[in-house]
Formats: sequence, C-alpha cells, structure tokens
Amino acid sequence: MSGCSQSSDNVNEENSTNEIKDEEKRDNEQDNETDDNEESAEEDDGKEENESEKTSEPLYEVDDTWSIVPIDNAEEKVVLLTIDDAPDKYGVEMAHTLNKLDVPAIFFVNGHFLTTPEKEDELRGIYEMGFMIGNHTYNHPFLPDLTEEKQSEEIIELNDLIEDIIDERPKFFRAPNGANTDHTKQVADEENMTLMNWSYGYDWEEDYQTKEAITDIMVNTELLTAGSNLLMHDREWTAKALEDIVNGLREQGYEFVDPKLIKTD
Ligand SMILES: [Zn+2]
Repeated sequence: MSGCSQSSDNVNEENSTNEIKDEEKRDNEQDNETDDNEESAEEDDGKEENESEKTSEPLYEVDDTWSIVPIDNAEEKVVLLTIDDAPDKYGVEMAHTLNKLDVPAIFFVNGHFLTTPEKEDELRGIYEMGFMIGNHTYNHPFLPDLTEEKQSEEIIELNDLIEDIIDERPKFFRAPNGANTDHTKQVADEENMTLMNWSYGYDWEEDYQTKEAITDIMVNTELLTAGSNLLMHDREWTAKALEDIVNGLREQGYEFVDPKLIKTD
C-alpha cells in the first residue's frame, strides 16, 4: 500500500462505485428529520451567530495539493471531512452522526440519487443540519470521456437541481475520480465553484471495507497531516466507522474545519 496510490494524484478513486451505484435506489425515508428546521431561517436578531458564520471572512483556502491551509492566523491543525456519492443509502445517517459530534463536512452529491421526493428530502435534511452541499456531477461519469457539451450538462444540470431543492448553488466541485478537463475547470469557474480533489481516502478499496479497517487507516495513515482533506463515501462500513474516525482524529489533536470558512470565488 504505497502512499501515493491513495491520493488524488492518480485517478483510481471509486473503482467500486459502479458496482454500487446501480443497486436499487432504496427509499431511505427520514420523514421526521427533514422538516424540523424550516421555520428557523427567518430573521431573528437575537440569534444571529449561525447566520453570521456563513457570511464571515474566509479563514482558510484550498492549496494546490487540495490541503486546507490557514489564510492568516487560523488554527493550522485541522482536517476537512468530505462525503462523496451522496445521498445514497447512508448519507442521512452519516449526517446525523456528524451533527451529533458537532463536526462540519461537505457532502458531494450526485443527481442520479435525487430521483424521488423522498431523496430530495434527504438532501434537504442534510443541508438543513448545516452541512455544505458540493457538486459531484449528475451521473458520476468519467468526465474526460465525454464531449464538452455533456461535461457542461453533468455539472450545470446538477447545480440547477440542487438549487431547486435547497435554494442554493454549490460552491465546491469535485470531479468523479478527481478527473477534470480544461473544460470542466472552465465550467466550474463560470459556475463560481472552487475545485476540490482530496488528500487521502481508502473506503473504496477492498482491504478497507470494514468498520475496523477503515477507522484504523483514516486515523493512522502517514498521509494525515495538518490541512488534510479526507475523502469518504456514502457506504455502509464508513457510516459505521464515522464516529470512531472523528474521535480518533480528535485524540490526535485535530480540529474539523468548517467548509463555510474556506475561501471560494
Ligand atoms: Zn464519487
């Protein structure tokens, strides 16, 4: 297991995605959780901390190795959690786990999961828990194989769909397998999205598809360092491991960066 094979410098991410994504789109209804927060977004001068956080000056930026680095004096020993290929079967559960632990994250979502009102409710629920929603393309294709027109559709049509559901367009774009083209970079720029690959991730590899194995490698990999951008997926073993991963990272002294504090343009 060489270090570089786990990073986004190559394009081996998510070999197992295709095996999973065509499984039945189970209605993972979460009726109770999704509607709780609808009334809380209105103006309320007495409780503006949550809102002001969204509009405050960025404290971090994404560097050219996809690490999250402080702009000025922000805490350096942070990691960013990202959950890709959501909301499939475990996204809502993972959001609840992170919410309980008070850990922010970006959920990079695909349009092909958002095919029913129930699945749209799942996305809305994740968003209303305070998580950022990123664009991971509509159908999770390998973008360099597509025409430029299709590349544009994969990105822009998902932004339109997400905006229809949560009334906000994504600010981050992550290409499947980390495989951008000059054209997708241009489209992301025109859509005012910041590109984001990742530092390391393992949960699509056969050796790490148990709770114990994925917890151990996510916390103890030699690739873990200040600013690491951690890639995980909406998968059963990762969902089971998530609390232990968070606790393990905290035990090593890492804080979790709020993606809303990362500079976008
Ligand atoms: Zn993916």
